[in-house]
Amino acid sequence: MDLKIFDRMESEVRGYVRSFPVVFKKARGSILVDEASKEYIDFFSGAGTLNYGHNNPILKDSLIDYLSTDGVVHGLDMATSAKKFFLETVDRVLFKPRDWNYTLQFTGPTGTNAVEAALKIARQVKGRQNIISFTHGFHGVSGGSLAVTANAKFRNAAGVALANTTFMPFDGYLGPDINTMAYLERMLDDPSSGLDHPAAVIVETVQGEGGVNVATQRWLKELQKLCRKHDMLLIVDDIQVGCGRTGNFFSFECAGIEPDIITLSKSLSGFGLPMSLVLMKPELDIWKPGEHSGTFRGNNLAFVTASQALNSYWADDSFAGETARKERIVRDWLENLVHSYPMAGLSVRGRGLIQGLVTPADDDLANQFARRCFEHGVVIETSGANDEVLKLLPALTIEDELLERGLGVIERSVAEVLAEKGVRARVLKFGGQAR
Ligand SMILES: *Cc1c(COP(=O)(O)O)cnc(C)c1O
Repeated sequence: MDLKIFDRMESEVRGYVRSFPVVFKKARGSILVDEASKEYIDFFSGAGTLNYGHNNPILKDSLIDYLSTDGVVHGLDMATSAKKFFLETVDRVLFKPRDWNYTLQFTGPTGTNAVEAALKIARQVKGRQNIISFTHGFHGVSGGSLAVTANAKFRNAAGVALANTTFMPFDGYLGPDINTMAYLERMLDDPSSGLDHPAAVIVETVQGEGGVNVATQRWLKELQKLCRKHDMLLIVDDIQVGCGRTGNFFSFECAGIEPDIITLSKSLSGFGLPMSLVLMKPELDIWKPGEHSGTFRGNNLAFVTASQALNSYWADDSFAGETARKERIVRDWLENLVHSYPMAGLSVRGRGLIQGLVTPADDDLANQFARRCFEHGVVIETSGANDEVLKLLPALTIEDELLERGLGVIERSVAEVLAEKGVRARVLKFGGQAR
């Protein structure tokens, strides 16, 4: 396929086009179509931006209706009917059933801008500079967010010191026998640990970019307890694993915690339209008017589809139940794969419909799996410090038939790559071959 114009005109910074070197023309649901009319099953979902699939017809209809009546498209942060309906919908669908009270801050439309706002307000409220973040955490690539992002590739690109943060080991970072929360507690309790009293802690409940590392519910509960004890705000960055990715709308709900600040973006609009949001406890809202500004805080098209998504999928918990059902299908398939190749050193981790097939670090295996999957028509990415995790991120709305077809392609691709390395399956697959 002709990618010459991209090579000639676009900066070297381009990324995903290298992993998926075709020109995509159309997309619907979980199917992407390239210019040669080849179809791909999407197991990447725009890094978690398309939880309801591409061009979701329910969301698309609401958008077309809105445009056809000349609804306001760009509104800075002026009041519009679309924004009013979004606020009413959030209150009715998300807050009332949970008996929650959060103030909404609309930021610039990228996730990193919501993180910037969250960090700023936390520092203002507490009058302290330091923020605790975690190993393998990812929070965006603008200055403040980058300072709490762990990955050296992104950090080195900044060209300046990234300061006022302290990294602590995420759950499981030091192996299964070490409770990293006890370490954090010791550091906070000891006035001579060298840790400057933090204003806040920022955490992902499942580290999406960092390798599908899952924090246990107990660890999250203890983190909240430590935050309260040491007068630090708890910020949950739910940009990638919120909006239903792990089952419930918010990824931390099952842990029974209530963060002081929540950041949302990626799948919030539901349609892939840019939109970001900070939720904060009302007493934290000490912003002065216009203090954190932005031209694109009022993407009304995103408000329309976001409202529609909340109304269509989150009015009750049946959608979360469907995700849990699909999680079991994916988990079962991946565990079967792991058991089939005991010599390959594979394992599985994840929660909801973010699942990782973990390969031994440093042998490029996950990247080879991903490339082979793409050749066989599945769009899938890797994550983790050494790209060692094949990250499965299908749309939550994916049909069972496509889900299983995609899983079949992954199984076949893993089998092929391993066979080329001389690693054989332990047992014959049912029917003797990949499904
Ligand atoms: C993607 C992501 C961000 C950054 O969002 P952008 O829109 O790329 O700026 C921040 N935090 C998490 C957890 C993310 O996955």
